[in-house]
Amino acid sequence: MAGNVLVMADQWRGELSDITYELLALGRELADGLGVSLEAVIVGHQLGELPNKLGAADVVHCLDNPALADPVPDAVSQALAEVIKQQEPAAVLIPWTNVAADLLGLLPAQLDAPFLNFCQDVRVVDGQLEARCVLYGGKMEAKVVGKARPLILGVLPGARSAEQGRVDGAPTVVAASVAIQDSGVHFKSYVEPEAGDVDITQQEVLISVGRGVQSGDNVKIAEELAAELGGAVCGSRPVIDQGWLSLSRQVGKSGAIVKPKLYIAAGISGAPEHVEGMKDSDTIIAINTDPGAPIYSVAHFGAVEDATDVLPALLDAVRAKKG
Ligand code: FAD
Repeated sequence: MAGNVLVMADQWRGELSDITYELLALGRELADGLGVSLEAVIVGHQLGELPNKLGAADVVHCLDNPALADPVPDAVSQALAEVIKQQEPAAVLIPWTNVAADLLGLLPAQLDAPFLNFCQDVRVVDGQLEARCVLYGGKMEAKVVGKARPLILGVLPGARSAEQGRVDGAPTVVAASVAIQDSGVHFKSYVEPEAGDVDITQQEVLISVGRGVQSGDNVKIAEELAAELGGAVCGSRPVIDQGWLSLSRQVGKSGAIVKPKLYIAAGISGAPEHVEGMKDSDTIIAINTDPGAPIYSVAHFGAVEDATDVLPALLDAVRAKKG
């Protein structure tokens, strides 16, 4: 039905991502606020039971097609555009993931639709959708009201909790039929992360190192500390660029978004591109020699100290405590 709220579900190799449920929670709030239904669209091939796991939605449009087996942005965008033209939603929430990010330029252009990007929150205010959008990598925010339809919104992780969107329900699943033209862009292969590497998004404790730790030897001390605390080591972009850690350990805008219980940021300045990836950690401890470093504005605790002294001292203290 025209005027509904439509959420794009993000799935990867048969698993729905947390941000899908975050957007379903947000979408439900918006749909209730506008007095319309919440619908979801899921894209891929051999989707099996996945559409039924989107219980927060009233209706799920299922785009199951061999041409959508791999995330080729042109194909996915064409298919989504067709569903949007058929369903005429008021708003489309697209999750800000590495895969969906590629759609965010294409889809509004294909639909000639208004587009609000980097939304941290969206609310219904006086019957209109009002989005809070991050600008300049987090240096500023803008509140924007989107009146035209369909309004496409690129929503960042963390807008709502995933738990809110994990609702048992029995959505009506509709097989959506769309024709997908060959755009000339063909998927070749995946480059898998290094074998045996850890997934930093799943760790409860992260020791994160920045340029301020000075050397790869100090990264090894951080690794030992992480191992003692049952966590993993990660870092800011310069540390990855120096080759001290692999790309899979990068936190931030062009790395991973992490939300551990404990995030120790050692020798990290707190640039917006880094903070974007770790600000929702439960407890953040910063170690930085500069008391004015921006990392202190997101840290819960801090030590204005030399990280090359603090990391070994912490390691000794943890080992002593563990006996
Ligand atoms: P620096 O900015 O050099 O800061 C080092 C800090 O260490 C300083 O605050 C200093 O006071 C402190 N320090 C120095 N010596 C010591 C010591 N002995 N003990 C304790 N503290 C000390 N960055 C990311 O991290 N992740 C991203 O995903 C990312 N994506 C980006 C995407 C784009 C498009 C762009 C333009 C940039 C991106 N960046 C990213 C880079 C980002 O802008 C910063 O340059 C980077 O985060 C800085 O890393 P840093 O804090 O380790 O280094």
